[in-house]
Amino acid sequence: MYLRPVPTRSPAPAPVFIGGRLWLDFVNTDDARLGQRVDVIASLSAYVDWLVAASVVDAERAAVLRRRAVEQPSGASAALVEAQRIRNVLRDLALRGRDPRAALAREQAVEEINRVLGRSVGTRRVEVAADGAYARSFVPVGDAFGGLVIPVVESAVDSLVRGELNRIHRCADPRCPRVFADDTKSKTRRWCEMKTCGNRAKARKHRQRPSRTDDG
Ligand SMILES: [Zn+2]
Repeated sequence: MYLRPVPTRSPAPAPVFIGGRLWLDFVNTDDARLGQRVDVIASLSAYVDWLVAASVVDAERAAVLRRRAVEQPSGASAALVEAQRIRNVLRDLALRGRDPRAALAREQAVEEINRVLGRSVGTRRVEVAADGAYARSFVPVGDAFGGLVIPVVESAVDSLVRGELNRIHRCADPRCPRVFADDTKSKTRRWCEMKTCGNRAKARKHRQRPSRTDDG
């Protein structure tokens, strides 16, 4: 059964962008902070905030989406439920996609991706950001909510096409659900972030050392 998220009582938790790929950052919206499970996109408004933070939609389009969410609450909540469902499929792909035995996880992800892409009607564009960086964008026609997840899904397609599932890992802290692409040359990235999980692990290791050593 789908558990409806509690309406936002406090500001949504700030998103983190540590995945190295848009689709992994999207998976990481189902997060844990200080041992507590946190859904960064628990409401449509929080979902739109995340899309803005991820540079998927600009402020102008976000304002249109928020207006339409008020006018069409059922369409908005359906889009949110669908985004969360796609997120589960993508999490499975991130966690198990590189396992040769996980053919089913890959098949399900491809099926879901094709379902989303098959419905998409809109214009694909390349946009130039203020800092000169280029980004793909997708401007849907018709249903304002239907196309929102398309850039996320296309980013997963890029990872499939590049054959890079084998560099996608979960954070080495067992309490941390975050996933990321290891883009280091040495293939040694272990933590979602050094400042959280990495430092905690370092501190634990330090405590386990004989007390006379204090080099870090
Ligand atoms: Zn972590």
